Amino acid sequence: MTSALLSSDAPAASTPASTFAEIGLPDALQRAVADLGFETPSAIQAQAIPALLDGRDIVGVAQTGTGKTAAFGLPLLAAVDPSLRAVQAVVLTPTRELAMQVADAISSFAAQIPGLTVVPVYGGSPFLPQQRALQHGAQVVVGTPGRVIDHLERRTLKMDEVRFLVLDEADEMLRMGFAEDVENVLRRAPERRQVALFSATMPPAIRRVAEQHLVDPVEITVARQSSTVTSVRQTYAVVPFRHKVGALSRVLAVSDADAAIVFVRTRGAAEEVGSALVEKGISAAYISGDVAQGEREKIVDRLRSGALDVLVATDVAARGLDVDRIGLVVNFDVPREPETYVHRIGRTGRAGREGEALSFVTPSEQSRLRQIERTTRVQLEQITIPTPADVSGHRVTKLLDRIPERTEAGRLDLYRETVAVHLAQNPGTDPADLLATVLALAVGDEGPGARDEMDAELERARLAASRDDRGARPDRGDRPERGERRRTNTHIAGGPARWRVAVGHRDGVQPGALVGALTGEGGLTGKDVGKIDIFGSFSLVDIPGGLTPDALDRLGRARVAGRPLRIRMDSGPRSDGPARAGHHASRPTHGPSRGRS
Ligand code: ADP
Ligand code: MG
Repeated sequence: MTSALLSSDAPAASTPASTFAEIGLPDALQRAVADLGFETPSAIQAQAIPALLDGRDIVGVAQTGTGKTAAFGLPLLAAVDPSLRAVQAVVLTPTRELAMQVADAISSFAAQIPGLTVVPVYGGSPFLPQQRALQHGAQVVVGTPGRVIDHLERRTLKMDEVRFLVLDEADEMLRMGFAEDVENVLRRAPERRQVALFSATMPPAIRRVAEQHLVDPVEITVARQSSTVTSVRQTYAVVPFRHKVGALSRVLAVSDADAAIVFVRTRGAAEEVGSALVEKGISAAYISGDVAQGEREKIVDRLRSGALDVLVATDVAARGLDVDRIGLVVNFDVPREPETYVHRIGRTGRAGREGEALSFVTPSEQSRLRQIERTTRVQLEQITIPTPADVSGHRVTKLLDRIPERTEAGRLDLYRETVAVHLAQNPGTDPADLLATVLALAVGDEGPGARDEMDAELERARLAASRDDRGARPDRGDRPERGERRRTNTHIAGGPARWRVAVGHRDGVQPGALVGALTGEGGLTGKDVGKIDIFGSFSLVDIPGGLTPDALDRLGRARVAGRPLRIRMDSGPRSDGPARAGHHASRPTHGPSRGRS
């Protein structure tokens, strides 16, 4: 997982330490991380901590979510003398939110060190409280470069005793125009100091900073943690620009995620999309550079506490945001740079939870998607935007799920009586009709209408994208060419075709189980079943002799691994009938796993 570019005399990476004790962390810090539930050091921690404890400078290249804060925060605390009431460590971060987050994290690492104080300093909030905290002898300062410079100039912050400097998210600090301020802080620090520089990317500007200000740094590069990738399901949908808000509100309406972040490119879009969601009755708010710092902070707190479910944000405003509840990231605008994509999706799947990252691409933006796939080496899975029927279905299911508990709670006599009276007054009322009407009222929508223009356009865009995929993907081996597929599509049953079933790796399906279902429920014999390719969310089966309408009918009700088989001709993504949420047509997430001829 880690590929270390260590300089010659650096600690050997070939024997990675597996505990915090083994990497030489002082006892008090070991106890603190144990209390936080950290069992083993992450890759960047295993490499950075020993080097920093050894007094070395380091350059760490690592993505979001790899545990950088502890990688520098723990050795920083080991270097600080709590009995000396002077600033000894300064951490620079690109945003106010990050400054607070990092300060909180370092305070929690210092829980077992009496007398140690950490102060966050940032712009947009009054000087005096920060100044007072500094005067009271804080040893660690975490701040944005601009505000740190302000304090230095006012002499409310002194660097004389600083022995440890951290540049966190250095690339972002430069991107935000802090290059000069960062240089300035580095120049003012005493010569005998350690520097740890962390960055997700290593553009030449960061290299130059490292060359000028760091002494023979140990370079540590950590590949993306595999857990981040596997715990975040990455999907996309082709959505024409003008339907993005409509598609987004449907996605949010059927999502099971506790909370979601919607990323947009511009401040204007943040406001527009945020307001549109609020208008649709969704518990949403937006943050961008335009929103005052204090307000932003309050909004993030509400998101964390559950008072808010959807946050619309620009990249800068949401940088480094760490909220466990986020189960869904929506890229409302597909990011221009693959790195931005990686940062965005790092906002979900936190703390070992599952997450989903869905990217909207307009029909003309699909090359950006390919670029992201090449960079991240992850293939995004195309999904279907939920239909109005899916949204209503989701709402009513959630309502029905609450029935047992409500029944249990009792006090239903009044309602029972009301039903009896209503039925008596309206003879001939079908109780099923009555219940359906009451459900519709309770769910509060008009009931799904016919497919509208938006549905039709989404469907066209999706099918076009799926066809492009097939043309562009060389790894489909023996699958028929496009022309051939078209011809086979015209068969209803009995053709020499491949069939598609809606179960795959995701459901833990093995070829044997599919053969079992086809021979059992479908009445085929083993000889009738040809090659089987299992993909992420579906499988393809050759049935050279075709299926009779009767067999098709029986298989239509069959289940494998507890999921409906939904067998149909392999005509690409489903184009008829209601597309169910969670039915993800097309694009395998894994290659074919096993051929059977
Ligand atoms: P980064 O700065 O690289 O994005 P963070 O330092 O914010 O990552 O850490 C991401 C999350 O992982 C945080 O919730 C943190 O508490 C958790 N974490 C960090 N190190 C460990 C560890 N060794 N064991 C368990 N959880 C960890
Ligand atoms: Mg971080």
